Amino acid sequence: MAEDDANMMIRRQSSSYDFHMNPLEGKVTKVAIIGAGAVGAACASNLILLKVCSEVILVDIAEDRCEGEVLDLEDAGFVSGVRVVKGTFAEAGQADVIVITAGIGQKPGESRIQLIGKNKAVLKSIFSSMSPVNPDAIILLVSNPVDILTKVAQDLSTLSKHQIFGSGTFLDTQRFRIAVASKVQVAPSAVNAYVLGEHGDSQFAATSSATIGGVPISLFESLTPEFLNEAAEAAKMRAYEIIDKKGATYHGIAACVATMVDSVLNNRKMVFPLSVLDKKANVCISLPTILGRDGAEKILPLQLNKEEHAKYENSCKTMREVLDQFE
Ligand code: NAD
Repeated sequence: MAEDDANMMIRRQSSSYDFHMNPLEGKVTKVAIIGAGAVGAACASNLILLKVCSEVILVDIAEDRCEGEVLDLEDAGFVSGVRVVKGTFAEAGQADVIVITAGIGQKPGESRIQLIGKNKAVLKSIFSSMSPVNPDAIILLVSNPVDILTKVAQDLSTLSKHQIFGSGTFLDTQRFRIAVASKVQVAPSAVNAYVLGEHGDSQFAATSSATIGGVPISLFESLTPEFLNEAAEAAKMRAYEIIDKKGATYHGIAACVATMVDSVLNNRKMVFPLSVLDKKANVCISLPTILGRDGAEKILPLQLNKEEHAKYENSCKTMREVLDQFE
């Protein structure tokens, strides 16, 4: 083979592996976290310890709290060399990835709809303070109700829909996978099963297409329909249980956020259930999605049986009813 042909072949071969390459390699990679509360601080800690980016920018209207978190997190920076700074909204708007963990908690006697109205106003003020946002930024919504706020953020922003998505049922999916994995004694990463739909009460586990190491879960004797229902219910209720015992949940979601940001900055094209736009239903809802440098790059086709499909439709309807009260 002529040398030119050989070189061409090598080039062709390497181009088919482009997605393994980090388009930001060698660049300063900045991740802004808006909301330096329990979730925001835990996300920053994971990004620093796992060395996901080169700089974390923390922003909060509670200035002292934010400064305190930055000082505390700086003390962890020696592990990886990741810089952590307190920033302005304008600086956050120029980051590569912007994680929104700001929110207002529910007050006694306040309805869910009133709470959503308040958090929608928080989101509006964040977007106007960040403006103009880096046109290549990826925005990850974590604040609850995450599906509703993701849709609000997509409508507020001029960025493409794939650049804005929510953490959705990522955490619920990990909870479900861990329960299944421990039942059959395999690593959670060997379990390919999703919790889909709303990050909330109408979510469901899509078990009809689930596999363990490529083997349908229906072939595992211990994974009875009763066990799978219980595991799905436990995954849904786990946040309530944690909040009941310690007031908030943050370690689990922070690990999920660091994994998602890593998939974006390193263009890993990992598949996660993310809150993305279902165009037909006009809601943001969790579906298996390829996550890379362009954000939520591709939604994978749903493999649901009739019963799961009805649950998905119900989740969309629930979300649409809430959105109709605000749009
Ligand atoms: P928290 O009360 O500890 O922190 C919220 C922070 O947001 C506070 O520091 C507050 O000052 C800040 N904030 C409020 N308005 C702001 C604004 N306009 N600009 C900047 N900062 C602002 O709450 P938390 O425990 O950190 O939870 C944060 C959010 O994450 C909540 O909405 C919670 O429900 C959500 N959450 C989501 C998941 C998930 O799976 N998606 C999991 C856990 C928590």
